Amino acid sequence: MYLILKPGLDPDLQNRFVEELKAARLEVVPLPGLNRRAFALVGSPEITERFATHPYVEECIRDAAPYKRVARALHPHDTLVPLGDVSIGGDSFIVIAGPCAVETPEQMQSVAAAVRAAGAHGLRGGAFKPRTSPYSFQGHGRSGLQLLREAASPHRLPIVTEIMDAEDLPAMMESVQVLQVGTRNMQNFSLLKAVGSQKKLPVILKRGLAATLEELLLAAEYIVDAGNEAVILCERGIRTFETATRNTLDLNAVAWLKTKTHLPVLVDPSHGTGLSELVPPLSKAALAAGADGLLIEVHPDPTRAWSDGRQSLDPQSFTRLMRELRPLAQLFGRTLP
Ligand code: PEP
Ligand code: MN
Repeated sequence: MYLILKPGLDPDLQNRFVEELKAARLEVVPLPGLNRRAFALVGSPEITERFATHPYVEECIRDAAPYKRVARALHPHDTLVPLGDVSIGGDSFIVIAGPCAVETPEQMQSVAAAVRAAGAHGLRGGAFKPRTSPYSFQGHGRSGLQLLREAASPHRLPIVTEIMDAEDLPAMMESVQVLQVGTRNMQNFSLLKAVGSQKKLPVILKRGLAATLEELLLAAEYIVDAGNEAVILCERGIRTFETATRNTLDLNAVAWLKTKTHLPVLVDPSHGTGLSELVPPLSKAALAAGADGLLIEVHPDPTRAWSDGRQSLDPQSFTRLMRELRPLAQLFGRTLP
């Protein structure tokens, strides 16, 4: 909600009023212009509403957007999130690649070398896997983190991996550089608060299977509100009536999010399509739609992958894609660092 105070209000009274708002656990963000009479209030909608009819208030504007900290309206500049030697957001276009799941030391070492040689900026791989069936491979858990570390460190690749349980946060903080909150946990609010309560690791927040963009931004707001501003959104396809592809990659989301939030936006064309042959064209479309980078599944031998082989690129196709993306990025005013 935005408040405009009555003109000519005694500055002492105005200051006291602002203190009253803060005491009610609202954040008061002064807005430029209007002789310092305009404020955005960040906090509980029920509490902000109480001040709408305060005698000092000339006008109260109830905006449709319930998120504030992630809104571009209040922070016009792009947020840049560090990833090893590069940043996510701004002019650069970054690529994080690796297998769906951490399987073996050989698989991880081979894929890390391949994606590094192709120019990837980060290594992905799940040690904790959220699988639809309890009988599917669930990931190696904490020992998978060790395999990730051993594979990434010779190449100085930052590691991106999914966290499913706040209990694993200390182990993650010792082993990886970026946390991923998966689709199925986008609205696991206690997990969002947990990853938000530390500032060491940035968080990639994937859009829920059936989440609206407002719900995605409110989920991001939880993390930022808990104290961690390094949040990266990720469009990874949503459920629609279409069954030809695993999901429907919503590139509307990318262009829309870039206007509404200062947070970087990645696209995952692997889960978004479910088909490896669709990953290169949708990667290019994501770049054209304004995405800040890609999260791509790559496996040394997709036919033998323990999970998501059908949507994984082999190293050769990934290398070709990276080569094709470079000049395209330039065309769209981005650089592949
Ligand atoms: C993943 O990236 O490995 C993953 C499980 O993705 P999602 O949460 O988007 O399904
Ligand atoms: Mn996967």
